[in-house]
Amino acid sequence: MTRPAFVLTRGDLRRIDPPDSAVRSYWMRDALLAENDEIHRQPLRSRIHADVCVVGGGFTGLWTAIELKRRDPSTEVTLIEAAVCGAGASGANGGMAMNLWPKLSALIKQGGEDEAVAVARASVKAVDYLINFCEDNAIDAQIYRTGWLWASTNRSQDNSWDPAVEAAASYRDSPFRVLDGQAASKLAGTRVRGGVVDDSCANLHPGLLVRGLARVAESMGIRIYEHTPLRALGSNAHAPVAITPFGEIRAASVVLAINAWATQIPSVRQQLVMTASDNIVVKPAPGSYAPVTTAAGVSDAGRLLDYWRPLEDGTWLFGKAGLGLGYRTRGASTLFRPAPRLDNLIKQMHREFPALQGSTMLSAWRAPVEYSLSSLPFFSNVPGYPRVFYGTGYSGDGVGPCVMGGWLLASLATGVKDELSESFLTRSPKGRRLPPEPIRFLGGQVVKAAMIRRDRLEDQQKRVDPVTRMVTLIDPTSFVG
Ligand SMILES: Cc1cc2nc3c(=O)[nH]c(=O)nc-3n(C[C@H](O)[C@H](O)[C@H](O)COP(=O)(O)OP(=O)(O)OC[C@H]3O[C@@H](n4cnc5c(N)ncnc54)[C@H](O)[C@@H]3O)c2cc1C
Repeated sequence: MTRPAFVLTRGDLRRIDPPDSAVRSYWMRDALLAENDEIHRQPLRSRIHADVCVVGGGFTGLWTAIELKRRDPSTEVTLIEAAVCGAGASGANGGMAMNLWPKLSALIKQGGEDEAVAVARASVKAVDYLINFCEDNAIDAQIYRTGWLWASTNRSQDNSWDPAVEAAASYRDSPFRVLDGQAASKLAGTRVRGGVVDDSCANLHPGLLVRGLARVAESMGIRIYEHTPLRALGSNAHAPVAITPFGEIRAASVVLAINAWATQIPSVRQQLVMTASDNIVVKPAPGSYAPVTTAAGVSDAGRLLDYWRPLEDGTWLFGKAGLGLGYRTRGASTLFRPAPRLDNLIKQMHREFPALQGSTMLSAWRAPVEYSLSSLPFFSNVPGYPRVFYGTGYSGDGVGPCVMGGWLLASLATGVKDELSESFLTRSPKGRRLPPEPIRFLGGQVVKAAMIRRDRLEDQQKRVDPVTRMVTLIDPTSFVG
């Protein structure tokens, strides 16, 4: 007999509306076009068994499945995805593959110095691994190791990277190089005031990467079912059962790689803030701008990050983080939509990037970003379900760290004890918890309004009034911790 789980009830999960295809990101449109948009995999329509059932076809789910097969090709791995692989954040992000060194202070706070540095180092290896894996498996994800620049775009941001750079300075493999305004501007493709660069990071095409990973996963023998949402989780003879609309998977372990949708797990909900980033891809006006494909991926040092990067075809992506706020467990689905208030986003792009005035808009989308209260990803088992694991909370830095998340979840799912699966990343993050709804949403709106106001005033080099400043201090989210 299948017992519906208390954490993932049929009622909750029925609300998972797979992202609307009309809201497809530039990346996913491009990647699916290259597949003729027809190679959607079939839904699950039967009862099957697996050693591990992975739920979610983003980077975390695919890297987990691939790692399980790589370690032991005889492991039966099945992956189910509510929409198509890449429909979540993995196909909608900025495509900057970074590591966790910028979050070193947060890592130390959670795990102490030794473990923190071990995790930061593993996250550098993860980016190297990603690049080699794509090369070895003919995934052309348009990867350029042009580095990641953490830049200042107004006076209040100057040197805000100092704590991370100083914390890393005592390690010979600290990846940071501090740049003056001129050198940083050259790398940014536009004028910035200064910055710190990490040359080990890369820009890539996330749509081609996620679809390429799904292809390779299948070639390794992993069964992938798309359009197959997990509706409920039951258990039978101590083994979890993943229940989908037309089928069931009985597995020794289940891995929930559902990222923003993990807010449906009550204990996770208290630790995740569901916000959103808006993105546009533009084609510069002819003759107005020489595309710089050698430019780095750039994030500024504001609390509501501006980020930008060139694409291989001479277009540019510009994004702004922290703009929306999800309500209750529906947040993840409702925040997938066409980018609203485009005028503001374009104005901000022109401010940061005057050379992009007059460019043509090719695509604009909003997608949810889950910020954990520690700014770090965390991994554990669902309370009451010792064989059901999850990983989430990448806080806007997941393209590289998801590889590491896959290694870690593969170990948890198979009971392997190693440096990552035994690390603090699998212990409940220290610190406060978020209040329940509707308090968190209403409070969040007040804080968000103050953040946007402070951001605008700082960009205009104006004084931030004490009330606005005080309210922004309540914001529990941060890219670096
Ligand atoms: C706009 C934006 C910009 C970003 N920019 C960057 C960046 O430049 N660099 C960086 O490092 N990180 C960035 N990030 C973060 C990064 O994209 C994520 O951390 C990463 O993609 C998370 O991958 P994931 O596989 O864990 O989650 P996702 O890619 O979200 O995958 C989860 C999957 O689970 C599926 N799913 C959900 N519920 C169910 C269910 N019940 N049954 C079956 N399937 C289900 C979803 O459809 C989805 O495909 C950005 C994120 C966003 C949104």
